[in-house]
Amino acid sequence: MGKRNTLIAGNWKMHTTVVDGCRLAMEIAKACADYPDREVLLAPPFTILSEVSHVLKDSEIIVGCQNVCWEEQGAFTGEISPVMIKDAGAVAAIVGHSERRQIFGETDELINKRVKGAVKFGLLTILCIGETLDEREKGHTFEVLENQTRKGLAGVAAEEMARVVIAYEPVWAIGTGKTASKEQAQEAHAFIRGVLGQIYEKTIAEQTRILYGGSVKPTNVDELMAQPDIDGALVGGAALDAESFGRIVNFK
Ligand code: PEP
Repeated sequence: MGKRNTLIAGNWKMHTTVVDGCRLAMEIAKACADYPDREVLLAPPFTILSEVSHVLKDSEIIVGCQNVCWEEQGAFTGEISPVMIKDAGAVAAIVGHSERRQIFGETDELINKRVKGAVKFGLLTILCIGETLDEREKGHTFEVLENQTRKGLAGVAAEEMARVVIAYEPVWAIGTGKTASKEQAQEAHAFIRGVLGQIYEKTIAEQTRILYGGSVKPTNVDELMAQPDIDGALVGGAALDAESFGRIVNFK
């Protein structure tokens, strides 16, 4: 089959207020305007989803959130529902980011609820998985990746997988400046694709996009994207700079 449609996603984390977020979104739209064959997604904080969606309405860039609840509404203090996300103009959700897992104690079971909710309400759902440095050094990388993939996708039907994207983000490479080598990333992506083939079937595994995340920068994006099982990137720090993010979107 042909190469899967590349997705470059920018996770702004807990950065930007209305004015600087809208300015950054406009600068990024300008920097990405020449690359319509690549899907681009920005995930600003919840508080500016509406404004950023509005600013980007005439561009090809889609907007997503950084977490999502599984219920439509109700007594879930502090949570945001998929319906609210869509009401704010967003169409996608990042789920299970390592910062949610590590800082806020989100478990695979909780993340699975979020994945199922996001998919059910029609959001493009980016499930993040990845091993810690300790897990890698102990030789547990594949076991962790398989576990997080299987648990994160439990109950997600094959026909719903068209709305699911996996992001492989080795925890030791997030925000640290350390990037997985292209060989390490390709090996992990191929492994995850194999697990998808076991859970579903080969065609689903072949169609599912697997992004790499972890200190992606203009200087390393080209070699990472050249790997056969890397279908895009989830970018943190470099997504806060329009020039860097534009260069990442325009990888060679
Ligand atoms: C991320 O937050 O998903 C991420 C990959 O961050 P960074 O690019 O800064 O490592």
